[in-house]
Amino acid sequence: MNSEKQTDITIVIPAYNEAENIAPLSASLAEAMRGINKTYEVIIVDDGSKDATYDEILKASQTYPQIRGLKFKKNCGQTAAFNAGFEYALGRIVITMDADMQNDPADIPKLLEKMPEFDVVCGIRVKRRDNFVRRASSKIANFVRNLLTKDTIIDTGCSLKAFKAEAARRMKLFSGMHRFFPTLAKMDGYTVTQVPVNHLPRKFGKAKYGVGNRAFRAFCDLMAVRWMQKRHYRYEIENVIQETENRKQKTGNGKEY
Ligand code: UDP
Ligand code: MG
Repeated sequence: MNSEKQTDITIVIPAYNEAENIAPLSASLAEAMRGINKTYEVIIVDDGSKDATYDEILKASQTYPQIRGLKFKKNCGQTAAFNAGFEYALGRIVITMDADMQNDPADIPKLLEKMPEFDVVCGIRVKRRDNFVRRASSKIANFVRNLLTKDTIIDTGCSLKAFKAEAARRMKLFSGMHRFFPTLAKMDGYTVTQVPVNHLPRKFGKAKYGVGNRAFRAFCDLMAVRWMQKRHYRYEIENVIQETENRKQKTGNGKEY
């Protein structure tokens, strides 16, 4: 746990070669957050970009004091970038989104509305602004994923999600696992709901994934998640001899199973 002062919300944003998106993204986030009466920080994680993404994050942090940046030495992937953000987050609630401006920060209040009731809130992109092949492949992927994991997540590819911080940090993550966040959180006993959100076309930069570089890897990851579901355990401690207050704080996650 982080010992610095907590804020209400941390927004975690992985960015790989998204230089042109950082300034407009920062402005639209500031605009959306102005209307929300909560303290917040934004952590943009530069996942080893080869363009000026990091310089742009630095510039944005000078205009908006809420913006913090992390820079990876090399490209490690979207899950690693989310994970680094979760670890650095000071917020009690963690919101995830993409850096490419395809998610709409104006949807954040919709996610927060559900937060008292649920541990994780996932966006569903009702009107996907991607081409037919991407929309169709993602429909098939969600169907197969749900079939094999016995889950009901309509649009796991939508990065716009909100988590209680403990739920985000508790997920055991490996490369590719960002596609299974809700399923992993459920495994840990957290509650998940879904809300419709906006989707915007990508104006700047290029999509990092296509059908070819995603389908096979994502299927292997799906097999791994099935294995995790089968092998997953949850234990309850009935009694402790010589419990100390600070150990209770360290191990307690506030969740009763
Ligand atoms: N991303 C990342 N590392 C990578 C690939 C992507 O941090 O190795 C980021 C990317 O910059 C964007 C988000 O993950 O903010 C989603 O990527 P993209 O928009 O290309 O995915 P798609 O919309 O095609 O699912
Ligand atoms: Mg995108």
